Amino acid sequence: MTDSADLAARVREGDLRLHELEDHADPETAAAARRELIEVETDAALDTIGDFSFAASDAEPNIENMIGGAQLPMGVVGPIPINEDGEGGAAEGDFYLPLATTEGALIASVNRGCSVIRTSGGAAARVTKSGMTRAPVFRVSGIAEAAEVVEWVEENVEELREEAEETTSHGELLEVTPYVVGDNVFLRFRFDSKDAMGMNMVTIATQAACDLIEDATTASLVALSGNLCTDKKPAAINSIEGRGRSVTADVTIPREVVEERLHTTPEAIAEANTRKNLIGSAKAGSLGFNAHAANTIAAAFLATGQDAAQVVEGANAITTAEAREDSLYASLSIASLEVGTVGGGTKLPTQAEALDVLGLRGGGDPAGSNADALAEVIATGALAGELSLLAALASRHLSSAHEELGR
Ligand code: NAP
Repeated sequence: MTDSADLAARVREGDLRLHELEDHADPETAAAARRELIEVETDAALDTIGDFSFAASDAEPNIENMIGGAQLPMGVVGPIPINEDGEGGAAEGDFYLPLATTEGALIASVNRGCSVIRTSGGAAARVTKSGMTRAPVFRVSGIAEAAEVVEWVEENVEELREEAEETTSHGELLEVTPYVVGDNVFLRFRFDSKDAMGMNMVTIATQAACDLIEDATTASLVALSGNLCTDKKPAAINSIEGRGRSVTADVTIPREVVEERLHTTPEAIAEANTRKNLIGSAKAGSLGFNAHAANTIAAAFLATGQDAAQVVEGANAITTAEAREDSLYASLSIASLEVGTVGGGTKLPTQAEALDVLGLRGGGDPAGSNADALAEVIATGALAGELSLLAALASRHLSSAHEELGR
């Protein structure tokens, strides 16, 4: 086997390309050779990037042109009691949630919310809808042909299901929803991807269904993803129809806990939520009617090996807060939380350990239950973050009001 200096020299001489190094050396040596090259070319020292603790071979399915590891600080919040009534959620018990972030004060804030949830007897959380989507776009000659294609699809869903499910032992086709625009036919395939986030699984299965559609109809596939899926872009369809898991967490906090722990009142929190999260977001044309749900979601995604770009969909969340006679009712409903406990980045050693902290590494029994539970825990953590920030805003308002009132 070649050493890293030799490999780097061969790339410099034009004998090898940067992405070909694993063909000539083990992944560790290939990454070292790339670091040597980049250090010389850019004058940057890569000692820390090169000082990672997992085996480079573990990351082979996840990265190309590897040079090292992007190490982030990881903290933890909790324990958060979830669904302790035992009446139907996938997550049940006390959970510590690992969060990876560079934003100071984020974990302290979420942890304060967790402590309030704990003092209030815990949160409830449920996945209310589940399904990963892929929406290919087909070319047809015009609306008459589009209508024929849609009719064929609607009459042959069973055949499409058989073709699609041939490609996977876990995925199940739930529905195919057609959308027509002129001479374009979009078919939004929705699959139960069980414990996988499902984007690879569902893309492969959708391709098989598309092959059948092309054989049986006049439609021509233009793109396997026609953007009506919608992956990694802000889109109302995800907010309305859901994608991945649609999940809600809620909590009822006794009035005295709001006053003693959050230094405010249920009414002040409800008002801050209405004016900021609902009216402010509406005026801004936002798809997210929340304070900062993406903060907790992004940190949980990084810690547990989710696809970070899908935080875009995770931000489609609505926070509600309602002052009741002796309490504050608060909820967070995330329309499209795309998470998995198998596949993707979840197998990487750091992220797998973080899933172990949650007790949710790998496939669940029944399949899908671990990813459901992960969605419920992340939603509850994000609810804790919402409560803490809303309380900080509301109590500041209260303190200035106190000053104005001279008491
Ligand atoms: P994956 O890494 O392809 O692995 C998922 C596979 O795990 C499933 O297909 C399934 O195999 C197997 N599996 C084992 N136990 C399972 C269980 N209990 N439940 C479900 N599946 C189980 O992951 P993926 O979730 O399909 O895709 C995630 C990856 O796709 C991420 O790396 C993400 O970054 C990437 N991604 C891809 C696209 C794309 O267009 N391809 C788009 C965005 C993101 P069987 O199918 O054989 O049953």
